[in-house]
Amino acid sequence: MKFDPKTVYFEPDAMNYPLGKYLQKKYENKNWIPIENHNNIPELRARDNCEFPKLKQNLIIGIRKTQKFVPNKKISDFLVPYTSSGCSAMCLYCYLVCHYNKCAYLRLFVNREQMLEKVLRTSRHAERPLTFEIGSNSDLVLENTITGNLGWTIEQFAKEGRGFLTFPTKFAEIEPLLPLSHGGKTIARMSVNPAELIRKVELGTAPLTARIRAINLLCEAGYPVGLLIAPIMLVEGWEKLYTELLNQLADELSPQVKKTMRLECIFMTYSYVHRQINEAAFPNAVRLYDANLMTGRGPGKYWYRAPVRAKAELFFRESLKLLFPEAQLIYIV
Ligand code: SF4
Repeated sequence: MKFDPKTVYFEPDAMNYPLGKYLQKKYENKNWIPIENHNNIPELRARDNCEFPKLKQNLIIGIRKTQKFVPNKKISDFLVPYTSSGCSAMCLYCYLVCHYNKCAYLRLFVNREQMLEKVLRTSRHAERPLTFEIGSNSDLVLENTITGNLGWTIEQFAKEGRGFLTFPTKFAEIEPLLPLSHGGKTIARMSVNPAELIRKVELGTAPLTARIRAINLLCEAGYPVGLLIAPIMLVEGWEKLYTELLNQLADELSPQVKKTMRLECIFMTYSYVHRQINEAAFPNAVRLYDANLMTGRGPGKYWYRAPVRAKAELFFRESLKLLFPEAQLIYIV
């Protein structure tokens, strides 16, 4: 899953940081274009929706100027904007498209010391051990293949942090994480979906078998682990597809994963922006919007209608209890 950018857009000041210099060397043969601000690159914003796959081939390098921790009650105490945002993959429902529209390409921020320091400081001053979700803006396992930032973060937090870090991923390049001194302070969460939906919808991510192998290895290496069944897509034949997925997980996850994992289930949400981009960029792809099954949820956003969700929720609650009686189901939303 090697990312090979076509063009690198960069804030010149980012080149004063060690990571900026490292990336400059790593991609010295690429076309480099200076920009004023990673948040607004007018020439990329002006592109048509059908160019979305091409836009995803760009790499943006900048400095993160603000880092606002957002309180969160689901799996962590805070969502922390961290060393990257966006991603080179192209999941057709990607939640980042809601924030960044067609500019959901991979952005790397070079001031990692500053960002980690804020996490460490907050963790040390808190009244109780906190959990920080550092992967809600990108996929840190993918980013780690370029920057090594995730491995660096895990070891620094093990030495100096209190509480936990956590991140979700749809990638399988976890080998560099296995030998690290993580101190059990980083919770790795693997996101899964039926193999067929991964192939047709989660374009550019790791196949299901590779993800299962990766989470087994992380658990064996002592990381606390979780499994996200997310996003649940109620496409035609979903019961059969998800039954196959759950049976495969029951067969192939290691006994230790099945015993200790925490489970999260999240139904897909979708938006008008996704429809516009996907219809222009992937005209032959699976249509994820179904007016019979979905209804409005705020301006331009959709989610599954209550009776549709209720039926599916029952299916997941019963199946998970049966197949993974020891695992803790944290939530279905
Ligand atoms: Fe978005 Fe995650 Fe898919 Fe990347 S892997 S496109 S961040 S949903």
